[in-house]
Amino acid sequence: MIIVVKNACEKSQYDNLVEWIKDLGLDVHVSRGETSTVLGLVGDTSRVDIDLISSLDIVEQVKRVQEPYKNANRKFNPTDTIVNVGGRKIGGNFFQVVAGPCSVESEEQIIAVANAVKASGATMLRGGAFKPRTSPYAFQGLKGTGIELLIKAKKETGLPIVTELLNINDIDLFNEVDVIQIGARNMQNFELLKEVGKTGKPILLKRGLANTLQELLMSAEYIMAEGNNQVILCERGIRTFETMTRNTLDLSAVPALKDKTHLPIIIDPSHSTGIAKYVSPMSLASVGSGADGLIIEVHNDPKKAWCDGAQSLNPAQFDELMGKIKLMLPIVGKNFDGE
Ligand code: PEP
Ligand code: MN
Repeated sequence: MIIVVKNACEKSQYDNLVEWIKDLGLDVHVSRGETSTVLGLVGDTSRVDIDLISSLDIVEQVKRVQEPYKNANRKFNPTDTIVNVGGRKIGGNFFQVVAGPCSVESEEQIIAVANAVKASGATMLRGGAFKPRTSPYAFQGLKGTGIELLIKAKKETGLPIVTELLNINDIDLFNEVDVIQIGARNMQNFELLKEVGKTGKPILLKRGLANTLQELLMSAEYIMAEGNNQVILCERGIRTFETMTRNTLDLSAVPALKDKTHLPIIIDPSHSTGIAKYVSPMSLASVGSGADGLIIEVHNDPKKAWCDGAQSLNPAQFDELMGKIKLMLPIVGKNFDGE
C-alpha cells in the first residue's frame, strides 16, 4: 500500500501518521518528491483502514500495491535509485562500464587487463575469484588469492572491483570489494541474498538462467528487506530453445524493468551471447534500450583464457567498442560519472 502525503502539512500531523502506521507493525519506506511524499507500507496491510487514512487532510491518495515486491517497486520510490560505487554513480543519467576477465588468473594478467580497460574508459573492473562452474573438474577460481590480486589491480588503477560471492562463509575476504556479484545460479539462494543484504554494500544481482523478471525483483526485495537498497540488476541472457547463442539476451527486460522498478539495470552481453563478435552489436543495442551500464568480459589473450575465452574481447576490440559506446551515450541522455 502507498499513501501520498501533501508536503504542505504540519510536521506533527505527518509524524503522527507515520507513528500510527508503525504501531500497526508495518515498516514505512519514505520517498520525498517536490510537492508530495510517498509512504510505502511494507508488511501485512490487511488491518489498515483505507477510508480512514483517505479522510485525513494531509493525505492526497491511498493505493493498494498489487505486486509482491515493495521496496523494489517504482510505485514506492518513483525516482530512479542511483547506486554509488566508490564515487561512480550508476542509474538515472549515469552509465558505467564494468570490464575485465571472466576469472582472475595471475597478477600479470589482471593488472594488464585492468590497465587496458581503464585506458579505454571502463569505469569498474570485474574478475571472478570464486567461479560457479558447471563441471566440478573445471577451474574453480583462485579464491582468496584472486581477491588479493583484484585489490592490487584496484590500487594500481583506482578502478572499483566487482566480483562474485558464492558462499557467505567467504564474506570476510570481501571487505575491500566494491560490488558483490550474485551470479545467475544463486539468484534464488535466499539465505545468501539475506546475508548480502546485511552488508550494506552495492550488490550486482544477475538474473537466473530460467527466471522471470518478477522473480528477479523478488530476489532484489530479499536484499532490500535487510535495509540495503544498493542493488544493481543485471540481464545476462536466459535459456530458450535457441542454440546459436549461449543464451538469449532479453533486451526487452530493460524497458519492462524500468517500468516496474527504480533500481538500475545493466546488461551482460558476454554471457548472453557467448560469442565475442556478437558482444559489440549487443552492447550498442543495450545502450539503445536504456540500460544503465554494461558488464563485459575482456581478456589480454582470449585464446588462452582459463574460462570463457570464446566470448571475451581482446583489449583492442574493447577499445573500439568503447569508442562507439561514447558516441551513443549522448543520444540516450546518459554519461559516465566524472568524465
Ligand atoms: C560471471 O559473470 O562470471 C558469471 C559466472 O556470470 P553468470 O552468473 O551470469 O553466469
Ligand atoms: Mn564468464
